[in-house]
Amino acid sequence: MKEASMKDAFTVIALDGGAASGKSSTARALARDLKFLACDTGEHYRALTYLLLQAKVPPKEPQVQAFLNALQRSTSIYAHSARICLNGKTFDYLQLKSPEVNASVSKYAALPCLRAWLLEYQRSYVDLARKEGFRGLVMEGRDIGSVVLPKADYRFFLVADEATCQRRRDAQGVVDVVSVRNAQDQSRKTAPLVAPPGSITVDTSEHTLEDVVQCIMSLL
Ligand code: C5P
Repeated sequence: MKEASMKDAFTVIALDGGAASGKSSTARALARDLKFLACDTGEHYRALTYLLLQAKVPPKEPQVQAFLNALQRSTSIYAHSARICLNGKTFDYLQLKSPEVNASVSKYAALPCLRAWLLEYQRSYVDLARKEGFRGLVMEGRDIGSVVLPKADYRFFLVADEATCQRRRDAQGVVDVVSVRNAQDQSRKTAPLVAPPGSITVDTSEHTLEDVVQCIMSLL
């Protein structure tokens, strides 16, 4: 039954996990192979953090809310990936993955007002992907299966041991303390990083990207 529905119907996949657990590469590969749209919600939090740091807005609700009230958002699609545009601009790798953004993003992401500002926008990707002719949506983040798209057709939770995750970040030449970010994301009150109910856990520590993609495809 599931196989028939995968062929005919629009399919939504939620992919959650901690920092450097392999979500982004997996989401992009799945989107390419399945002709889905990929959405990296980490990019949304990073782009907002970049702008908030530039504007010297502290991670406090009233100031952040005032900043968000004046911000326009839209979406650009490049091949199989969606990118957030804020006030008409997209953001490059150096802006999104800077040491400053890595060190602050979890503080801003813990604010309920910022998460509320993104929620309906992120949910609107389902209709966007359908309207643009994709066969499905693969959305990755920390709260996709638990909060953003709890009714996704498939929910996966990617894990990897911390040393492996840190090695992956270091190999990218990025200054990012994975354990600190994960601890902050797991302990916040609003939409913490959790394995969504009913999700399938995939351990990527010992596996190549191809293995992980193959494993997920075999479960669809
Ligand atoms: O996935 P990535 O590591 O780029 O995410 C950056 C940060 O954005 C996370 O550490 C987390 O604080 C926040 N985030 C979130 N919810 C999501 C996606 C990312 O809180 N769905």
